[in-house]
Amino acid sequence: MKRFAIILTVCLLVAFPVMAMGGSESGSSAVAAEATPTLNADGSFHLPIVDEPTTFSIFLNFNNMPFDPEWAVWKEIEKKTNIRLENVISQSNSNETEAFNLMLSSGNLADVIGYVSAADLEKLGRDGGLIPLNDLIDQYAPHIKALLESDARFKQFATSTDGNIYFIPKNQTVKTCEFWWIRKDWLDKLGLEVPTTVDELYTVLTAFRNEDPNGNGIKDEIPLFDRAGWKMPDEYLYLWDSSTQFYVRDGVVEFEPMEENYKTAVTNLVKWYREGLIDPEIFTRGTKSRDILFASDLGGCTHDWVSTADYNTKLQSEVPGFELIAIAPPADQNGVVKERTERFPGVGWGISSSCKDPVTVIKFFDYLFTEEGSSYMNWGIEGESYYVGDDGEKHFFDEILNSDQTPTGYLRSIGSIYRVGMNQDGGYEFATMNEYGLAAVELYDSHPEWYDSAQPPYADGKLDIKLFPEDESQYKRIMNSIEPYVDEKLQSWILGTSSFEADYDSFIAELKKRGIDEAQQIIQRAYDAYAASSK
Ligand code: CA
Repeated sequence: MKRFAIILTVCLLVAFPVMAMGGSESGSSAVAAEATPTLNADGSFHLPIVDEPTTFSIFLNFNNMPFDPEWAVWKEIEKKTNIRLENVISQSNSNETEAFNLMLSSGNLADVIGYVSAADLEKLGRDGGLIPLNDLIDQYAPHIKALLESDARFKQFATSTDGNIYFIPKNQTVKTCEFWWIRKDWLDKLGLEVPTTVDELYTVLTAFRNEDPNGNGIKDEIPLFDRAGWKMPDEYLYLWDSSTQFYVRDGVVEFEPMEENYKTAVTNLVKWYREGLIDPEIFTRGTKSRDILFASDLGGCTHDWVSTADYNTKLQSEVPGFELIAIAPPADQNGVVKERTERFPGVGWGISSSCKDPVTVIKFFDYLFTEEGSSYMNWGIEGESYYVGDDGEKHFFDEILNSDQTPTGYLRSIGSIYRVGMNQDGGYEFATMNEYGLAAVELYDSHPEWYDSAQPPYADGKLDIKLFPEDESQYKRIMNSIEPYVDEKLQSWILGTSSFEADYDSFIAELKKRGIDEAQQIIQRAYDAYAASSK
């Protein structure tokens, strides 16, 4: 693996300076693009972007859905802009990472490149494979430029530690991410109030466990579960304001397993698991947990996305009386209410040094941030997926809302809500929510104080912060040894195969031996730079 990385770096060094020079040549279309402004005199976006149909190559495979120019939305965009993107990845590709590494080692870069990892895209940028977009945005992308000026998080995520912008992110206008969900019908049946603290949650979950709220006479309820338990075993540590990761308090980066809250959290989790409050299969049940445990009337409480509200509709006949509501995050042992999950901008796409006409491509990128481009990316096609009602608002057709696929699944099948530089707009999400989903978003949105605005981005339960390039490999080396160890220990304590109390001191000693202090210093440096750039 390490050897491969070295070979790759050599290839990059050899191949890219040549390409970078090739890319700066002005072909005839590049001259035409520079001669035409992005906007018309009246401020509207100038379409088509190029007079002649023009094709660019693209590398893009999001969630095993390779980009397809034949998707309905992208056919429409092609008609409007005269720009078509041909994927260099085959439609049967199922390994984005392998394909990415293959492209890099071949030295043949697509004109446009999108990838799952911001760090890898930025590394490609620093190695000369992606061009800095700062000046192009300034001159030819007024919508992106305006967003960079108005949205600090978008700007922060777009900007590499060297000050360059190598990719246009996929922005998120909705902040709320996961919610605490609880069976309201079970609470009512047992005469219980909504729990507001972690201690009250313990009482409620114990009642779910012992008092047969599903009424079948069997002690089969699974009070607390999570479909992400296999990849985020630490999600419930949040209840006691802890995790298995780095976290920032008052500007100081802490590795949470070494802190006092972690002891409280793990001690309680061990007890909850032993008492049957947590899914006995939390580590193995997998992504279908939510479907299975709600449909079988066994699950009581979970922490999950707004789509969880849909079970109220889906299970109406299957589980009579089923009612699942979002509640405030239970206050922790110190009385603090906090929601750690939050949405942040994600990766999008950049322009490679092989691209002969970056000006046209940046204009195309900008188009997706116009109202029209944004409609395609969020709502699909007018008259097919949505209509504009008498109220002047967009509405999805009922067939979309009630199709077998989720509305998002449908939109993805026509090329919308894809992983490209765009604004993911809350409107389309609200339009697909039922009353329980809307209530959830309203509750969490009305409490900005639950979200820690000083905290750097979190993704899938991990601090997602940009490291200094020179720190990256050392950090990876240390954490590749620490992370599995921490997960393995936590799992063994919760499952009861080893004792937390007996292990703790040697656990800390082992973390130090594996270099946790150096990793902490690397994150602290990155955080200090982040904090300075966010001011
Ligand atoms: Ca039961």
